[in-house]
Amino acid sequence: MNVVVIVPAAGSGVRMQNASKKPYIELQGQTILGHTLCALEQAGSITSIVIVVSPGDEDLCRHQVVSHLDLRPEISIIAGGERRQDSVANALAVLPPACDVVLIHDGARPFVTSKILEETAAAAYSCGAATAAVPLKDTIMQRDDTEPNAPKPLERDKFYAIQTPQAFKPDIIMAAHAHATGKAMQATDDASLVRYMGLPVAITHGSYENIKITTAGDLLYADMLLAKREADNSH
Ligand code: C5P
Repeated sequence: MNVVVIVPAAGSGVRMQNASKKPYIELQGQTILGHTLCALEQAGSITSIVIVVSPGDEDLCRHQVVSHLDLRPEISIIAGGERRQDSVANALAVLPPACDVVLIHDGARPFVTSKILEETAAAAYSCGAATAAVPLKDTIMQRDDTEPNAPKPLERDKFYAIQTPQAFKPDIIMAAHAHATGKAMQATDDASLVRYMGLPVAITHGSYENIKITTAGDLLYADMLLAKREADNSH
């Protein structure tokens, strides 16, 4: 199985409130994006990686991240779009031809494991589409915009917190993006676009450590997690 990975890393990072752009913030001596690429490389089926960065940041990514790593998969760096969906669409337009499964993984999730990556890719190879997910930990209520003090409690057990990696057969993810564009549909992930077409998406086991670094608090947690991993590995 030949797996090509798309790494969306073209977000504005406004929720981070940090002077540096999120993919290039250093934790334990390595950029967040660098940690994510190293985690991806561990999965043996991954043959190439398309990194999607903010327009104009291609050289920054090459010099500050990729050139410091001796990565096994073939790397290309392209410009993203306004929404995450546009960034992924830009990468789908330049996919290498030898590709059995397209795996999409947020640049801001450096704690993904090879097990999650391989299981999600394998599930997509047999089912067509798959996403990592975890059960919700918090109680969940739905906001009612007309009645601010009347949020509706929902049954937590019926919901998933959806993560990346997400993986797809190439024809399915291409069709899902074309369908979404045609109907002006938006989604914050790619599995939702496949569901909008009525096609199945298998759920694989994600992990509570597989966080998307989004806020300043996430940055502190991620730094601690990386320090602990390094200490564990050195014993
Ligand atoms: O905004 P959100 O948290 O959903 O972003 C998830 C991932 O998508 C991040 O790695 C971010 O850099 C990326 N992204 C992108 N292009 C955008 C917006 C977000 O590649 N226009």
